[in-house]
Amino acid sequence: MTMRAADDITLFLAHACKLEEDAANRFSDLAESMKTYGNAEIAEFFGKMAHFSRLHLEDARKRSGFRDIPVLSDEEFQWPDDESPEAASMEGSHYLMTVEYALELALDSEKRGLAFYADIAKNSADPEVRMMAEEFAAEEADHVAQLEKWKARHPRKS
Ligand code: ZN
Repeated sequence: MTMRAADDITLFLAHACKLEEDAANRFSDLAESMKTYGNAEIAEFFGKMAHFSRLHLEDARKRSGFRDIPVLSDEEFQWPDDESPEAASMEGSHYLMTVEYALELALDSEKRGLAFYADIAKNSADPEVRMMAEEFAAEEADHVAQLEKWKARHPRKS
Protein backbone atom coordinates (compact mmCIF):
# COMPACT_ATOMS: atom_id res chain seq x y z
CA MET A 1 0.00 0.00 0.00
CA THR A 2 1.35 3.41 -0.86
CA MET A 3 1.61 6.11 1.75
CA ARG A 4 -0.85 8.95 1.21
CA ALA A 5 0.49 12.49 0.86
CA ALA A 6 -2.02 13.45 3.54
CA ASP A 7 -0.30 11.21 6.08
CA ASP A 8 3.35 11.97 5.56
CA ILE A 9 4.90 15.40 5.99
CA THR A 10 7.76 14.91 3.51
CA LEU A 11 5.40 13.49 0.91
CA PHE A 12 3.02 16.37 1.53
CA LEU A 13 5.86 18.87 1.13
CA ALA A 14 6.95 17.21 -2.12
CA HIS A 15 3.46 17.92 -3.46
CA ALA A 16 3.37 21.45 -2.04
CA CYS A 17 6.79 22.23 -3.57
CA LYS A 18 5.67 21.06 -6.99
CA LEU A 19 2.37 22.89 -6.75
CA GLU A 20 3.95 26.18 -5.67
CA GLU A 21 6.68 25.87 -8.27
CA ASP A 22 4.09 25.30 -10.99
CA ALA A 23 2.07 28.24 -9.68
CA ALA A 24 5.13 30.51 -9.69
CA ASN A 25 6.07 29.48 -13.23
CA ARG A 26 2.54 29.96 -14.41
CA PHE A 27 2.33 33.44 -12.92
CA SER A 28 5.67 34.33 -14.50
CA ASP A 29 4.34 33.15 -17.87
CA LEU A 30 1.16 35.16 -17.42
CA ALA A 31 3.18 38.22 -16.41
CA GLU A 32 5.27 37.88 -19.58
CA SER A 33 2.26 37.58 -21.84
CA MET A 34 0.56 40.55 -20.18
CA LYS A 35 3.72 42.57 -20.78
CA THR A 36 3.50 41.56 -24.44
CA TYR A 37 -0.03 42.86 -24.46
CA GLY A 38 1.14 46.13 -22.98
CA ASN A 39 -0.76 45.71 -19.74
CA ALA A 40 1.92 46.72 -17.25
CA GLU A 41 -0.42 46.90 -14.30
CA ILE A 42 -1.61 43.34 -14.53
CA ALA A 43 1.87 42.09 -15.50
CA GLU A 44 3.10 43.56 -12.25
CA PHE A 45 0.33 41.88 -10.29
CA PHE A 46 1.14 38.47 -11.79
CA GLY A 47 4.84 39.08 -11.18
CA LYS A 48 4.10 39.71 -7.52
CA MET A 49 2.01 36.54 -7.29
CA ALA A 50 4.92 34.53 -8.74
CA HIS A 51 7.23 36.09 -6.18
CA PHE A 52 4.88 35.29 -3.30
CA SER A 53 4.51 31.68 -4.39
CA ARG A 54 8.28 31.30 -4.24
CA LEU A 55 8.56 33.02 -0.84
CA HIS A 56 5.75 30.92 0.55
CA LEU A 57 7.44 27.75 -0.56
CA GLU A 58 10.79 28.75 0.94
CA ASP A 59 9.09 29.57 4.19
CA ALA A 60 7.34 26.20 4.31
CA ARG A 61 10.61 24.41 3.64
CA LYS A 62 12.29 26.26 6.49
CA ARG A 63 9.56 25.54 8.97
CA SER A 64 9.61 21.89 8.07
CA GLY A 65 13.15 21.82 9.41
CA PHE A 66 14.74 21.17 6.02
CA ARG A 67 13.70 17.56 6.15
CA ASP A 68 14.63 15.59 3.07
CA ILE A 69 11.86 16.05 0.58
CA PRO A 70 11.57 13.06 -1.73
CA VAL A 71 12.01 13.63 -5.45
CA LEU A 72 8.91 12.16 -7.06
CA SER A 73 8.43 11.11 -10.64
CA ASP A 74 5.32 12.33 -12.46
CA GLU A 75 3.62 8.98 -11.78
CA GLU A 76 4.34 9.13 -8.07
CA PHE A 77 2.47 12.37 -7.49
CA GLN A 78 -0.98 11.87 -6.05
CA TRP A 79 -2.99 14.61 -7.73
CA PRO A 80 -6.73 14.65 -8.02
CA ASP A 81 -7.39 14.16 -11.77
CA ASP A 82 -3.74 13.06 -12.17
CA GLU A 83 -2.65 16.58 -12.95
CA SER A 84 -0.77 19.13 -10.87
CA PRO A 85 -3.51 21.53 -9.75
CA GLU A 86 -1.71 24.71 -10.74
CA ALA A 87 -0.11 23.52 -13.95
CA ALA A 88 -2.92 23.59 -16.50
CA SER A 89 -1.32 23.95 -19.90
CA MET A 90 -1.00 27.42 -21.35
CA GLU A 91 0.19 26.08 -24.67
CA GLY A 92 -1.42 27.77 -27.59
CA SER A 93 -3.15 30.24 -25.33
CA HIS A 94 -0.62 33.03 -25.89
CA TYR A 95 -2.22 34.08 -29.13
CA LEU A 96 -5.61 34.61 -27.63
CA MET A 97 -4.43 35.78 -24.27
CA THR A 98 -6.43 38.70 -23.03
CA VAL A 99 -6.49 40.18 -19.54
CA GLU A 100 -9.85 38.55 -18.88
CA TYR A 101 -8.66 35.16 -20.05
CA ALA A 102 -5.39 35.40 -18.12
CA LEU A 103 -7.30 36.19 -14.93
CA GLU A 104 -9.65 33.30 -15.55
CA LEU A 105 -6.77 30.86 -16.07
CA ALA A 106 -5.05 32.04 -12.91
CA LEU A 107 -8.23 31.95 -10.87
CA ASP A 108 -9.03 28.46 -12.05
CA SER A 109 -5.64 27.10 -11.05
CA GLU A 110 -5.67 28.88 -7.68
CA LYS A 111 -9.06 27.35 -6.95
CA ARG A 112 -7.71 23.92 -7.73
CA GLY A 113 -4.70 24.58 -5.50
CA LEU A 114 -7.06 25.61 -2.71
CA ALA A 115 -9.17 22.47 -3.18
CA PHE A 116 -6.07 20.29 -3.07
CA TYR A 117 -4.85 21.69 0.25
CA ALA A 118 -8.32 21.84 1.78
CA ASP A 119 -8.85 18.18 0.92
CA ILE A 120 -5.55 17.18 2.55
CA ALA A 121 -6.33 19.28 5.63
CA LYS A 122 -9.67 17.51 5.92
CA ASN A 123 -8.35 14.00 5.37
CA SER A 124 -5.05 13.98 7.20
CA ALA A 125 -4.59 12.13 10.45
CA ASP A 126 -1.19 13.76 10.96
CA PRO A 127 -1.48 17.01 12.97
CA GLU A 128 1.61 18.54 11.39
CA VAL A 129 0.42 17.86 7.85
CA ARG A 130 -3.03 19.09 8.77
CA MET A 131 -1.71 22.34 10.22
CA MET A 132 0.48 23.05 7.24
CA ALA A 133 -2.25 22.12 4.76
CA GLU A 134 -4.67 24.45 6.53
CA GLU A 135 -2.17 27.25 6.35
CA PHE A 136 -1.49 26.61 2.66
CA ALA A 137 -5.22 26.48 1.99
CA ALA A 138 -5.64 29.87 3.68
CA GLU A 139 -2.86 31.24 1.49
CA GLU A 140 -4.57 29.91 -1.63
CA ALA A 141 -7.91 31.33 -0.46
CA ASP A 142 -6.21 34.71 -0.29
CA HIS A 143 -4.88 34.30 -3.85
CA VAL A 144 -8.38 33.37 -5.02
CA ALA A 145 -9.81 36.47 -3.31
CA GLN A 146 -7.21 38.74 -4.88
CA LEU A 147 -7.83 37.30 -8.33
CA GLU A 148 -11.56 37.68 -7.92
CA LYS A 149 -11.05 41.34 -7.07
CA TRP A 150 -9.02 41.85 -10.24
CA LYS A 151 -11.53 39.90 -12.27
CA ALA A 152 -14.38 42.09 -11.06
CA ARG A 153 -12.46 45.06 -12.41
CA HIS A 154 -11.98 43.34 -15.77
CA PRO A 155 -15.29 41.73 -16.63
CA ARG A 156 -15.33 39.55 -19.72
CA LYS A 157 -16.62 41.51 -22.67
CA SER A 158 -19.27 39.56 -24.48
ZN1 ZN B 1 -1.68 30.24 -5.02
